[in-house]
Amino acid sequence: MENVKRVILCKYGEVALKGANRPQFEATMMRDLRRRASRIGSFDIYAAQSTVYIEPADDTSDIEEMYREAEHTFGFSGLCLAAVAEKTMESIKEIASFYLPQKLRGMETFKVEAKRADKRFPKKSPEIAAEVGEAVLASAPWLRVDLHSPDIVVTVEVRERGAYIHAGQERGAGGLPLGTNGRALLLLSGGIDSPVAGYMMMKRGVTVDAVHFESIPYTSEQARDKVLALASLLTDYCSSIRVHVISVTHIQEVLRDSCDNDYFTILLRRFMMALADRTARHTGAQALITGESLGQVASQTMHALAATDCMTTLPVFRPCIGMDKEEIITVSRKIGAFDTSILPYEDCCTVFTPPHPKTRPELSQVEEQERRVDFAALADEAWATRRTFFIRSGMEPREYTEKEEN
Ligand code: ATP
Ligand code: MG
Repeated sequence: MENVKRVILCKYGEVALKGANRPQFEATMMRDLRRRASRIGSFDIYAAQSTVYIEPADDTSDIEEMYREAEHTFGFSGLCLAAVAEKTMESIKEIASFYLPQKLRGMETFKVEAKRADKRFPKKSPEIAAEVGEAVLASAPWLRVDLHSPDIVVTVEVRERGAYIHAGQERGAGGLPLGTNGRALLLLSGGIDSPVAGYMMMKRGVTVDAVHFESIPYTSEQARDKVLALASLLTDYCSSIRVHVISVTHIQEVLRDSCDNDYFTILLRRFMMALADRTARHTGAQALITGESLGQVASQTMHALAATDCMTTLPVFRPCIGMDKEEIITVSRKIGAFDTSILPYEDCCTVFTPPHPKTRPELSQVEEQERRVDFAALADEAWATRRTFFIRSGMEPREYTEKEEN
């Protein structure tokens, strides 16, 4: 038998529960898939029965590569790479006994489940399952049928355009389709937590821009490149990302020279929040995102969070707030960010850090410290240093000119 024709089935997650808005969500998921497909080859992409189908339109379009793209596309709870048969029992059995044995190597037991979405197909599901089971046993004699706890479940789906045969469904990226839930600005450091936070909000359908604060010469050019590299990794999940870079060098020097050392970090974070708020308003973001996790460090206690939250009236999303470091690292590895995150470059938050930062800063005392500096002037001056980088998926970061951005 020649090459079996294969198709990717992408099964809806939460989107299946959407009522009147569902077509809009579907359209967004398909657009996301088509954008990805256009870089790989030529594919037919269509939706039917809570599933999106991706079929190569010619022999040169790499379906395995497209599968990896589908794994990064939000909105799908399950994915499978299925063999396509004609809608006759002969074709289904022939394809199943050719395609499945290679997939079932190393397994001992299996079971066939049939789903007959096309009710015009003459055989009922149990009959289809029994016949396909027999055909598989004949071509893979090392297997046994186990209906209760099989090593693997083989599924035959008889649908509108054909019959699809696959051995097991893998998890999709989940979440909601990209761009269906507003725009937010991620405070992106070079650490482990903030890229994870950005990914988690993207997964909820949020379009994410980023802002990064640097402190050259106390932080290095490499530290900025690292942040741009992390943002690039996030573009596996979206089409592009804008990263705004703002220098807080002078703010840090003034805080170091004018304020009590114990308040340094919290005061710097208040500037960061105010500048993030300003960036968000400038770029049309409706919320901020940080990678904070409650109690992880002194600046992430409830007192400290309260003292930074009041610098913005936008909602601040902190998807890592209830996660411990291990859980955050698991996600970081999953999105492929971990190895970059642990590269040892300084972050502005680790420059001039006091040995004993206040863990319970009283707002009145923080404000008293802050009055020692000209907050508005320093914030304006930092704002003027803002540069914007645009990163399109699969491309190098490119700096925007002022005119392009506006
Ligand atoms: P991360 O791993 O994300 O760096 P962290 O555990 O190092 O987090 P902090 O340094 O206290 O924690 O930062 C808390 C959050 O503040 C970060 O998750 C990020 O959202 C934001 N943040 C910290 N430093 C910067 C920076 N230089 N630029 C932009 N945002 C920052
Ligand atoms: Mg950090």
